[in-house]
Amino acid sequence: MKAVVFDAPGKFSIREMPDPEIKPDEVLIAVKASGVCGTDIHIYDGDFIADYPLIPGHEFSGEIVEAGKDVENFRVGDKVAVDPCMFCRKCSFCRENRENFCINLQAYGVHVNGGFAEFAAVKEANIYNIQGLSFVEGALVEPVGCGIHGIKQVGIDIGDHVLIFGSGPIGLILMQLCKNSGAATLTVVDLVEEKLELAKKLGATNVIKADDDLQEKLKSLRSEGFQVVIDATGSPAVVESMFNYVRDRGRILFFGVCPQKARIQISPYDVYKRELKIYGTFSLLHTSSVAIDMIREKKINAEALVSHKLPLDQFDSAFEMMHNRASSMKIIIEQ
Ligand SMILES: [Zn+2]
Ligand SMILES: [Zn+2]
Repeated sequence: MKAVVFDAPGKFSIREMPDPEIKPDEVLIAVKASGVCGTDIHIYDGDFIADYPLIPGHEFSGEIVEAGKDVENFRVGDKVAVDPCMFCRKCSFCRENRENFCINLQAYGVHVNGGFAEFAAVKEANIYNIQGLSFVEGALVEPVGCGIHGIKQVGIDIGDHVLIFGSGPIGLILMQLCKNSGAATLTVVDLVEEKLELAKKLGATNVIKADDDLQEKLKSLRSEGFQVVIDATGSPAVVESMFNYVRDRGRILFFGVCPQKARIQISPYDVYKRELKIYGTFSLLHTSSVAIDMIREKKINAEALVSHKLPLDQFDSAFEMMHNRASSMKIIIEQ
């Protein structure tokens, strides 16, 4: 089969690989759609724990073409999306239903071959039926699942005024989730005009271009700040600035992935005096079914987040676009 292979950090090729062989508890999926994600870039760059050589791709969907003898609830022909996280179910985190911190966590496309290939072998425990969804929507189940996990951390109350930095695919998934959770207003900030236009189309109340007057513009909207401020940029400077816009007693969600070595300055006095709450969120945790329901019921417009669909052998152009995010939203490798 044809596959994208990361041979070592900084090195990838598109080449023939042996077809995967399934174990009794696995299915063979003919991959139809596979999303390119910032994490793939981190794995490629070598600043994310991964096992090489690796077929990357952790956001994918496809059709089952073979099922192992122990597979009980799926059959050949089923359309499925993959939750990439594999848990040991034995460690203390797994026993506390906090499997996203499983000390033996493994993920398709990170430690085990993933979805940038014609075929992928995946455990039954990791697949979800996506009847009623397109394959492209199926490829967005994972990022939507991560978004749902994040929104569950910070919690949206009815009537909250929410400020989101970043109008990329993740920012707009989070925005739509906040809208569904009863936020009164949604304000989205980004550098790129076209991305803000999409935010507006998908329900943003205010869209604001990040420029020199940003602080003034945001203060004029909510002089006493927003109940919830979310970073979907992964820029340390942006994360640091969130404290300027959060309302007293407000919540801040760190969703974007900042460089591991980045540091920001915050005022402990402010956190104390203003009763600020800071939330992290990592990966997803049993949120795939909810993500599928939200996409199927059109509560989340997933297709609108896709700017490019490319064949597998154009993976290099997809990767190039990912390095310069201004010109693209979600890129899907389609087969
Ligand atoms: Zn991802
Ligand atoms: Zn575990």
